Amino acid sequence: MDKKRVYTFGNGQAEGKAEMKNLLGGKGANLAEMNLIGVPVPPGFTITTEVCSEYYELGRDKVVDLLKEDVEKSVAKVEALMKSKFGDVENPLLVSVRSGARASMPGMMDTILNLGLNDEVVEGLTRKTGNARFAWDSYRRFVQMYGDVVLGMKPTNKEDIDPFEAIIEEVKESKGVKLDNELEVEDLKVLVKKFKEAVKKQTGHDFPTCAYEQLWGAICAVFDSWMNERAILYRKMEGIPAEWGTAVSVQAMVFGNMGETSATGVCFSRDAGTGEDLFNGEYLINAQGEDVVAGIRTPQQITKIGSQRWAELAGIPEDVRAAKYPSMEEAMPEIYKELDEIQTRLENHYRDMQDMEFTVQEGKLWFLQTRNGKRTGAAMVKIAMDLLRQGMIDEKTALKRVEPNKLDELLHPVFDKAALKNAKVIAKGLPASPGAATGQIVFFADDAAKWHADGHKVVMVRIETSPEDLAGMAVAQGILTARGGMTSHAAVVARGMGKCCVSGAGALSIDYKSRTLEVGGVTLKEGDYISINGSTGEVYEGKVATRAAELSGDFADLMALADKYTRMKVRTNADTPHDAEVARKFGAIGIGLCRTEHMFFEGEKIKAMREMILAENEEGRKIALAKILPYQKADFKGIFKAMEGCPVTVRLLDPPLHEFVPHDEKGQQEMADAMGVSFKHIQQRVEALHEQNPMLGHRGCRLGNTYPEITRMQTRAILGAALELKKEGVETFPEIMVPLTGLLPEFKEQENVIREEAAALFAEMGDSIDYKVGTMIEIPRAALTAERIAQGAEFFSFGTNDLTQMTFGYSRDDVASFLPIYLEKKILQVDPFQVLDQNGVGQLVRMATEKGRSVRPDLKCGICGEHGGEPSSVKFCHRVGLNYVSCSPFRVPIARLAAAQAAIEE
Ligand code: PEP
Ligand code: MG
Repeated sequence: MDKKRVYTFGNGQAEGKAEMKNLLGGKGANLAEMNLIGVPVPPGFTITTEVCSEYYELGRDKVVDLLKEDVEKSVAKVEALMKSKFGDVENPLLVSVRSGARASMPGMMDTILNLGLNDEVVEGLTRKTGNARFAWDSYRRFVQMYGDVVLGMKPTNKEDIDPFEAIIEEVKESKGVKLDNELEVEDLKVLVKKFKEAVKKQTGHDFPTCAYEQLWGAICAVFDSWMNERAILYRKMEGIPAEWGTAVSVQAMVFGNMGETSATGVCFSRDAGTGEDLFNGEYLINAQGEDVVAGIRTPQQITKIGSQRWAELAGIPEDVRAAKYPSMEEAMPEIYKELDEIQTRLENHYRDMQDMEFTVQEGKLWFLQTRNGKRTGAAMVKIAMDLLRQGMIDEKTALKRVEPNKLDELLHPVFDKAALKNAKVIAKGLPASPGAATGQIVFFADDAAKWHADGHKVVMVRIETSPEDLAGMAVAQGILTARGGMTSHAAVVARGMGKCCVSGAGALSIDYKSRTLEVGGVTLKEGDYISINGSTGEVYEGKVATRAAELSGDFADLMALADKYTRMKVRTNADTPHDAEVARKFGAIGIGLCRTEHMFFEGEKIKAMREMILAENEEGRKIALAKILPYQKADFKGIFKAMEGCPVTVRLLDPPLHEFVPHDEKGQQEMADAMGVSFKHIQQRVEALHEQNPMLGHRGCRLGNTYPEITRMQTRAILGAALELKKEGVETFPEIMVPLTGLLPEFKEQENVIREEAAALFAEMGDSIDYKVGTMIEIPRAALTAERIAQGAEFFSFGTNDLTQMTFGYSRDDVASFLPIYLEKKILQVDPFQVLDQNGVGQLVRMATEKGRSVRPDLKCGICGEHGGEPSSVKFCHRVGLNYVSCSPFRVPIARLAAAQAAIEE
């Protein structure tokens, strides 16, 4: 049998269900499910995501042929339920055509409403409804949307305005009115006429009048929109594969623009910004859905409490609010009650926060969509923990509900309270997405990208938010808009991205041409600093200092819950006491990698280091090393103290030495003076240190093996620091790590030096301390011969940065020259330096762990490359049986959660 391509729903029945998201898209699957649980949904049908793939494989004509019979049959079903006929003049059925992928992509693809209208049908609709204004308003919206989306009228150049919008402005001006809804029937007729003339002029074709021709055009346009620029960009950001495709849902229209008893809105079962358990949303009376999300009119609140909060922020007195901007709860109490009842039902059914769209047509409520709502990192944590406390989900589900990478947002800075006191508030908008942002003003998305590339921090300022701004939003510190509500596309997207956003700051007057913004007598231009608070809606002139976020409450509870299920530990990569402290606060239980070379990059230390490197012979090196020793010991003391009671892995000197020597004349002269040798002599030494391929050169344990005195000094510094702390009553667990081992003798030689020096030190001090000696595994040969290396090494730490470099043969320093092209061509799916290559590099990790433990069953294994903080890599490490991952301090909570999820998923 031929495969099923179309699934119908309506009147409490559906061929699909919630679990069929892959096939029907999120929207289609939930439309089916809502039908099944008795939510009022206009009837319709969904064309599967598989057809989208067929569309790109077989082309438009073949796919229309394949679908024709099923679509016509499905339309007939809808006609029967709606007691009307598609394309009929006297009793017309109008439909909407919408996209819907597996994962929600708010506003990224196209939608067409009111489809099925033409010059005759609009007259029929007028007679049927007795409402000419409604009929013509619907018609002009349809021609505009269809023109933009299907017929390609939408300008591609940011400076050009939409030809239809230009016509609307022209007609409004000639009538002397300001708002769209002040236009009269005759004006709407003029608009439609002018719109169609514009279509003919630009495309060379008449606007299609046949309902089915319109329908096929719309269905194919939705498939086309899967590959539009912003959808591609969004998928890239969210990691959604292009192969998934979008479904198309065709649904009987219900109208929110039929008069004062009609309305349209968007609502959330909980607050998507803060996570607060409070039903909220926005609606517009006598409007169509797109008016709310497109941010053209600033909508009103659904609940009374929401409306009161909104008025307070906007500085609107209570009596004015109640009279001019009543909530739906006040203005339409009956409908509100039903809405509230259904939103509760949907949340209970899906056991997650729902983001819903609805329409009220002449007093009757219809649901058009429900989905698990996008939310900020903070809301994600709060909602998961609240649902757990409310008994809606269990602990494991709560842990799985939180995306590890999104925790990053919670760690972001907030405005410094002291700095805020002196900051000047210049406007107030809606707190669309929390956080603090400070940066230079840009007005266009591509400028944001350019400025960002040049190293600027920018705040993107727009009159209204639109999905086209995505690329700019992605790189901006924050987004500020003059118009638009909490549910405008960009506000939703900003929350999804965890980007700070203030929307609807009505006092701003923005002029794109002169690239300025004016507010309360202050004029700011492109490049000026501005600061916004996405948690309060406040806008400040200039820079406002920020400080680190506080982590307590739900976050702490979540982390405690994670620890309950985790097997693998999380350490941190830290080279300073400060980083160690930060990481400890985030829950690191030790240091997995302390890169000693990072300690030399400042002040007097670098001089002593340079002296050591530039020394002619062992004698000279020993003199310089004696100067370095006290610095190193003091540094290690600081770090050990910050990590009191926890293991600290200190790695011996690793990088190629030439990285430390001065390459400029001034620096070389300085060194010559300091060492009392000639400038020429220094120059020659620097030249002699030059390597063709330093990443594969004189680095890692090759340094310690050629200059054992360095290893001796470092051993003394590490264990000397530990012994001094022991006297002070501070407990330490030092682990000395040999870098870049490839051969057992390489390790053995170093181990001997370390143990010899330790014994000498202990004898001198009359005291000793336990310590371990282990190695990094970052050369494929070490992984391949791990059972030999483990004879000597007491622990393994996988340096997957170098291991990736040497397994792929890609230079870490030069990969940027070809990686973007490899990603674009899909030769690589992801950057292997960010996401562990489980099939290649990962197999070396697995094998080395197994081989190592075959000779030393209690061999402690961890990872300390960048991958140690990347969720999918952390999960892999769990499956391989590593004891710990080690990552930068700010990624510690992310790794802890990923490790817990890995344990749960097992
Ligand atoms: C590694 O190679 O993965 C590692 C942690 O060492 P570094 O990045 O310092 O070379
Ligand atoms: Mg390395």
